[in-house]
Amino acid sequence: MIITIEKSMDERKRKELIENLEKKGVEVLYQEGFDYDVLLLTENAGAMNEADIRIVDGVIDVFSKMSYHLASREFKKDDTIVDVAGVLVGGNQPLALIAGPCSVENKESIEEMAIQVRKAGATMLRGGAFKPRTSPYAFQGLGKQGLLDLEEAGKKANLPIVSEIVSEEDIDLFENHVDMLQIGARNMQNYSLLKAVGRSQKPVLLKRGLSATVEEWILAAEYILKEGNPNVIFCERGIRTFEKSTRSTLDLSSIPVLKEKTHLPVIVDPSHAAGNWRYVKSLSLAAVACGADGLIVEVHDHPQFALSDGAQSLTIDHYQQLVEEVSKVAQAVGRNIVK
Ligand code: PEP
Ligand code: MN
Repeated sequence: MIITIEKSMDERKRKELIENLEKKGVEVLYQEGFDYDVLLLTENAGAMNEADIRIVDGVIDVFSKMSYHLASREFKKDDTIVDVAGVLVGGNQPLALIAGPCSVENKESIEEMAIQVRKAGATMLRGGAFKPRTSPYAFQGLGKQGLLDLEEAGKKANLPIVSEIVSEEDIDLFENHVDMLQIGARNMQNYSLLKAVGRSQKPVLLKRGLSATVEEWILAAEYILKEGNPNVIFCERGIRTFEKSTRSTLDLSSIPVLKEKTHLPVIVDPSHAAGNWRYVKSLSLAAVACGADGLIVEVHDHPQFALSDGAQSLTIDHYQQLVEEVSKVAQAVGRNIVK
């Protein structure tokens, strides 16, 4: 249940209301909003009598069926701009161009790729160190060492870094070494992990689950926001459909839907959607035309030798061409990129 209250509500009355609710065994979280504040109720909220709450002085409304709130445009009208170690994402900011290999493979190659993607126009560096692979026999990533190598590469190229976190046990490690925490498609509904990254203040790149509806995805973001972390960026990476010619089906319609329903930035991952490097540029151009706030693209200096996702990885040259063409589409739709 969500209770909206006037910002001018007397503090004593607010505390009294919260105490009364807690006496009924309900957990209450108070959050300040923009036009109004909210009380977020969890557990046993079904037992609450809405009518009794509505008549309290200062209460605006009670929503017992509303599924998400903090992520909604009703809660916050203006676009949220997320600051990833100095790179601003969302609103009218230049497109976030995140690039790098699927996995960090060794120190030398990640450092070289970091410099190369930066030259091509990337504004952030990606690289997986803890890889959630479908097969337990596939390369699982370099773990902590991979993260440290990625950090070093980011520093050398002067690019913020983003990497996937797969376990809440690693939260301290990521807080200390990574600029943005990626929640992968396979973990979009891992609620204890969502709560853990919600307790952090690091920006979170929340990928869409393989079979998640947009509403389920927004609810996953709500978990993070509810814990107190406002820095969430959605990442559309394609969904599983009957179509087999691409790895996933890139659902570009989620961009305008998310933009209408939420205030959070949305970026697109054309690489995992396509599964084939040949389609990555077209999908990138379409995503930008459709209003995406950025792209996360897999790039590798030698895709044929990549330890994961080589088939969908662009060479540095192809990435450079992609950035040049994306820049034109961005201009056509009133956005730009950092030169
Ligand atoms: C990745 O970014 O390398 C990855 C595993 O992506 P996803 O979670 O979208 O499959
Ligand atoms: Mn990958």
